[in-house]
Amino acid sequence: MENNIITLRQGKPLVIAIDGPSGSGKSSVSRKVAERLGLSYLDTGAMYRALTWHCLDAGTDLSDAVAVEAAARNLELEQNSRPGTEFVRVFGHDVTEEIRRPEISSAVSAVATTLGARAELVRRQRALIAAAHRRIVVEGRDITTVVAPDAEARLLLTASEEARMARRGLQLGGTQSAEQLAAQVLARDAKDSTVVEFQRAADGVATVDSSHLDFNQTVDAVLAAVLDAISPHPIHA
Ligand code: C5P
Repeated sequence: MENNIITLRQGKPLVIAIDGPSGSGKSSVSRKVAERLGLSYLDTGAMYRALTWHCLDAGTDLSDAVAVEAAARNLELEQNSRPGTEFVRVFGHDVTEEIRRPEISSAVSAVATTLGARAELVRRQRALIAAAHRRIVVEGRDITTVVAPDAEARLLLTASEEARMARRGLQLGGTQSAEQLAAQVLARDAKDSTVVEFQRAADGVATVDSSHLDFNQTVDAVLAAVLDAISPHPIHA
Protein backbone atom coordinates (compact mmCIF):
# COMPACT_ATOMS: atom_id res chain seq x y z
CA MET A 1 0.00 0.00 0.00
CA GLU A 2 2.75 2.45 0.90
CA ASN A 3 4.37 1.91 -2.51
CA ASN A 4 1.19 3.10 -4.23
CA ILE A 5 1.09 6.17 -2.00
CA ILE A 6 4.78 6.91 -2.57
CA THR A 7 4.40 6.55 -6.34
CA LEU A 8 1.27 8.72 -6.50
CA ARG A 9 2.86 11.58 -4.54
CA GLN A 10 6.55 11.31 -5.52
CA GLY A 11 8.09 14.78 -5.43
CA LYS A 12 4.71 16.36 -4.64
CA PRO A 13 3.33 17.69 -1.37
CA LEU A 14 1.86 15.11 0.96
CA VAL A 15 0.61 16.53 4.24
CA ILE A 16 -1.16 13.88 6.31
CA ALA A 17 -3.17 15.51 9.10
CA ILE A 18 -4.25 13.20 11.93
CA ASP A 19 -6.43 14.32 14.85
CA GLY A 20 -7.89 12.35 17.72
CA PRO A 21 -8.40 12.08 21.48
CA SER A 22 -5.89 10.81 24.06
CA GLY A 23 -5.14 7.12 23.82
CA SER A 24 -6.35 6.67 20.24
CA GLY A 25 -2.82 5.56 19.36
CA LYS A 26 -2.25 8.74 17.34
CA SER A 27 1.41 9.38 18.14
CA SER A 28 2.83 5.90 17.64
CA VAL A 29 0.68 5.25 14.57
CA SER A 30 1.56 8.63 13.01
CA ARG A 31 5.27 8.05 13.61
CA LYS A 32 5.11 4.63 11.93
CA VAL A 33 3.11 5.99 8.97
CA ALA A 34 5.73 8.75 8.49
CA GLU A 35 8.52 6.17 8.62
CA ARG A 36 6.82 3.88 6.09
CA LEU A 37 6.23 6.76 3.65
CA GLY A 38 9.60 8.48 4.18
CA LEU A 39 7.92 11.66 5.47
CA SER A 40 8.80 14.05 8.28
CA TYR A 41 6.79 13.87 11.49
CA LEU A 42 5.38 16.52 13.83
CA ASP A 43 3.85 15.76 17.24
CA THR A 44 1.99 19.00 18.06
CA GLY A 45 0.91 17.69 21.49
CA ALA A 46 4.61 17.70 22.43
CA MET A 47 4.69 21.45 21.69
CA TYR A 48 1.79 22.14 24.09
CA ARG A 49 3.46 19.87 26.65
CA ALA A 50 6.82 21.63 26.23
CA LEU A 51 5.21 25.05 26.72
CA THR A 52 3.43 23.72 29.83
CA TRP A 53 6.73 22.35 31.19
CA HIS A 54 8.35 25.74 30.64
CA CYS A 55 5.51 27.67 32.32
CA LEU A 56 5.60 25.39 35.37
CA ASP A 57 9.40 25.57 35.51
CA ALA A 58 9.36 29.37 35.31
CA GLY A 59 6.51 29.69 37.85
CA THR A 60 4.18 31.29 35.28
CA ASP A 61 0.59 31.51 36.49
CA LEU A 62 -1.34 29.31 34.03
CA SER A 63 -4.51 31.35 34.56
CA ASP A 64 -2.71 34.51 33.38
CA ALA A 65 -3.45 34.42 29.63
CA VAL A 66 -1.12 37.34 28.85
CA ALA A 67 1.81 35.66 30.62
CA VAL A 68 1.16 32.26 28.98
CA GLU A 69 0.92 33.88 25.54
CA ALA A 70 4.21 35.75 26.14
CA ALA A 71 5.83 32.47 27.25
CA ALA A 72 4.65 30.85 24.00
CA ARG A 73 6.12 33.64 21.89
CA ASN A 74 9.48 33.54 23.68
CA LEU A 75 9.76 29.76 23.91
CA GLU A 76 12.95 28.33 22.43
CA LEU A 77 11.83 24.90 21.29
CA GLU A 78 13.55 22.17 19.31
CA GLN A 79 12.01 18.82 18.47
CA ASN A 80 12.71 15.94 16.12
CA SER A 81 11.19 15.98 12.67
CA ARG A 82 12.36 12.48 11.72
CA PRO A 83 10.38 9.47 12.92
CA GLY A 84 12.54 7.02 14.86
CA THR A 85 14.38 9.65 16.88
CA GLU A 86 12.49 11.48 19.56
CA PHE A 87 13.63 14.56 21.44
CA VAL A 88 12.13 17.76 22.74
CA ARG A 89 14.36 20.56 24.06
CA VAL A 90 13.27 23.76 25.77
CA PHE A 91 15.97 26.46 25.91
CA GLY A 92 18.48 23.66 25.24
CA HIS A 93 17.22 21.51 28.14
CA ASP A 94 16.12 17.97 27.19
CA VAL A 95 12.51 17.53 28.37
CA THR A 96 11.63 14.48 26.22
CA GLU A 97 10.75 12.32 29.24
CA GLU A 98 9.57 15.03 31.63
CA ILE A 99 6.78 16.31 29.34
CA ARG A 100 5.07 12.89 29.57
CA ARG A 101 4.72 13.08 33.37
CA PRO A 102 1.20 13.16 34.94
CA GLU A 103 1.78 16.73 36.31
CA ILE A 104 2.22 17.97 32.76
CA SER A 105 -0.76 15.96 31.46
CA SER A 106 -3.02 17.51 34.08
CA ALA A 107 -1.79 21.09 33.48
CA VAL A 108 -1.54 21.05 29.67
CA SER A 109 -5.21 21.86 28.96
CA ALA A 110 -4.89 25.15 30.87
CA VAL A 111 -2.17 26.16 28.41
CA ALA A 112 -3.93 24.70 25.36
CA THR A 113 -7.12 26.67 26.11
CA THR A 114 -5.19 29.98 26.18
CA LEU A 115 -6.11 31.27 22.73
CA GLY A 116 -3.09 33.56 22.29
CA ALA A 117 -0.72 30.67 23.05
CA ARG A 118 -2.60 28.45 20.59
CA ALA A 119 -2.27 31.10 17.88
CA GLU A 120 1.50 31.21 18.41
CA LEU A 121 1.89 27.40 18.36
CA VAL A 122 -0.34 27.10 15.27
CA ARG A 123 1.87 29.70 13.54
CA ARG A 124 4.98 27.65 14.40
CA GLN A 125 3.32 24.41 13.26
CA ARG A 126 2.52 25.91 9.86
CA ALA A 127 6.12 27.13 9.56
CA LEU A 128 7.40 23.62 10.37
CA ILE A 129 5.11 22.10 7.71
CA ALA A 130 6.49 24.57 5.16
CA ALA A 131 10.07 23.83 6.27
CA ALA A 132 9.41 20.12 5.59
CA HIS A 133 8.38 21.10 2.03
CA ARG A 134 4.86 19.93 2.88
CA ARG A 135 5.92 16.27 3.05
CA ILE A 136 4.99 15.47 6.63
CA VAL A 137 2.64 13.63 8.99
CA VAL A 138 1.23 16.08 11.57
CA GLU A 139 -0.81 14.89 14.50
CA GLY A 140 -2.81 16.64 17.20
CA ARG A 141 -6.29 17.94 17.93
CA ASP A 142 -6.89 20.71 15.39
CA ILE A 143 -4.65 19.74 12.46
CA THR A 144 -7.44 18.71 10.07
CA THR A 145 -9.50 21.81 10.90
CA VAL A 146 -7.18 24.71 11.81
CA VAL A 147 -3.48 24.02 11.23
CA ALA A 148 -3.67 22.26 7.84
CA PRO A 149 -7.26 22.11 6.55
CA ASP A 150 -5.70 21.97 3.05
CA ALA A 151 -3.78 18.74 3.82
CA GLU A 152 -3.81 16.09 1.08
CA ALA A 153 -5.12 13.51 3.59
CA ARG A 154 -7.16 14.41 6.68
CA LEU A 155 -8.01 11.72 9.22
CA LEU A 156 -9.65 11.42 12.60
CA LEU A 157 -8.29 8.49 14.58
CA THR A 158 -10.82 7.41 17.19
CA ALA A 159 -11.20 4.54 19.63
CA SER A 160 -13.80 3.58 22.22
CA GLU A 161 -13.34 5.00 25.71
CA GLU A 162 -12.54 1.49 26.97
CA ALA A 163 -9.79 0.91 24.40
CA ARG A 164 -8.30 4.37 25.03
CA MET A 165 -8.14 3.86 28.80
CA ALA A 166 -6.53 0.45 28.36
CA ARG A 167 -3.83 1.91 26.08
CA ARG A 168 -3.08 4.88 28.32
CA GLY A 169 -2.77 2.46 31.26
CA LEU A 170 -0.13 0.51 29.40
CA GLN A 171 1.71 3.68 28.42
CA LEU A 172 1.94 5.02 31.95
CA GLY A 173 3.22 1.66 33.19
CA GLY A 174 0.60 1.43 35.90
CA THR A 175 1.91 4.32 38.06
CA GLN A 176 -1.64 5.65 38.45
CA SER A 177 -4.75 3.71 39.38
CA ALA A 178 -7.20 2.95 36.58
CA GLU A 179 -9.73 5.37 38.13
CA GLN A 180 -7.21 8.23 38.44
CA LEU A 181 -6.13 7.64 34.90
CA ALA A 182 -9.63 7.54 33.46
CA ALA A 183 -10.61 10.68 35.37
CA GLN A 184 -7.51 12.53 34.16
CA VAL A 185 -7.83 11.54 30.50
CA LEU A 186 -11.57 12.29 30.35
CA ALA A 187 -11.16 15.64 32.12
CA ARG A 188 -8.38 16.59 29.68
CA ASP A 189 -10.42 15.64 26.61
CA ALA A 190 -13.46 17.51 27.98
CA LYS A 191 -11.40 20.66 28.63
CA ASP A 192 -9.61 20.43 25.26
CA SER A 193 -13.01 20.10 23.54
CA THR A 194 -13.94 23.60 24.67
CA VAL A 195 -11.49 25.11 22.16
CA VAL A 196 -11.16 22.46 19.44
CA GLU A 197 -13.53 19.87 18.02
CA PHE A 198 -11.69 16.56 17.72
CA GLN A 199 -14.37 14.07 18.72
CA ARG A 200 -16.27 14.30 15.43
CA ALA A 201 -14.83 14.34 11.91
CA ALA A 202 -15.20 17.65 10.07
CA ASP A 203 -16.37 17.65 6.44
CA GLY A 204 -13.92 15.83 4.19
CA VAL A 205 -12.15 14.14 7.13
CA ALA A 206 -12.09 10.31 7.09
CA THR A 207 -12.58 8.44 10.37
CA VAL A 208 -10.43 5.44 11.32
CA ASP A 209 -11.75 3.60 14.38
CA SER A 210 -8.94 1.68 16.07
CA SER A 211 -11.04 0.19 18.94
CA HIS A 212 -10.72 -3.34 17.64
CA LEU A 213 -7.44 -3.03 15.77
CA ASP A 214 -3.94 -3.77 17.01
CA PHE A 215 -1.05 -1.42 16.24
CA ASN A 216 -0.12 -2.88 12.83
CA GLN A 217 -3.75 -3.09 11.74
CA THR A 218 -4.25 0.55 12.70
CA VAL A 219 -1.18 1.60 10.69
CA ASP A 220 -2.57 -0.34 7.69
CA ALA A 221 -6.03 1.22 8.13
CA VAL A 222 -4.47 4.71 8.20
CA LEU A 223 -2.38 3.95 5.08
CA ALA A 224 -5.54 2.69 3.33
CA ALA A 225 -7.38 5.91 4.25
CA VAL A 226 -4.44 8.01 2.98
CA LEU A 227 -4.40 6.09 -0.31
CA ASP A 228 -8.13 6.62 -0.68
CA ALA A 229 -7.80 10.35 0.04
CA ILE A 230 -5.07 10.92 -2.57
CA SER A 231 -6.40 8.59 -5.28
CA PRO A 232 -8.17 10.24 -8.17
CA HIS A 233 -11.87 9.38 -7.80
CA PRO A 234 -14.01 8.97 -10.92
CA ILE A 235 -16.84 11.50 -11.10
CA HIS A 236 -20.20 9.74 -11.15
CA ALA A 237 -22.89 11.29 -13.31
O1 C5P B 1 -1.41 14.48 22.10
P1 C5P B 1 -1.09 14.78 23.53
O2 C5P B 1 -1.92 13.99 24.49
O3 C5P B 1 0.37 14.69 23.84
O4 C5P B 1 -1.49 16.32 23.68
C1 C5P B 1 -1.33 16.98 24.91
C2 C5P B 1 -2.30 18.14 25.00
O5 C5P B 1 -1.90 19.17 24.08
C3 C5P B 1 -3.76 17.86 24.68
O6 C5P B 1 -4.45 17.34 25.80
C4 C5P B 1 -4.27 19.25 24.32
O7 C5P B 1 -4.53 19.98 25.48
C5 C5P B 1 -3.06 19.87 23.64
N1 C5P B 1 -3.10 19.84 22.18
C6 C5P B 1 -3.87 20.78 21.52
N2 C5P B 1 -3.84 20.86 20.16
C7 C5P B 1 -3.06 20.03 19.45
C8 C5P B 1 -2.29 19.04 20.11
C9 C5P B 1 -2.35 18.96 21.48
O8 C5P B 1 -4.60 21.54 22.17
N3 C5P B 1 -3.01 20.16 18.12
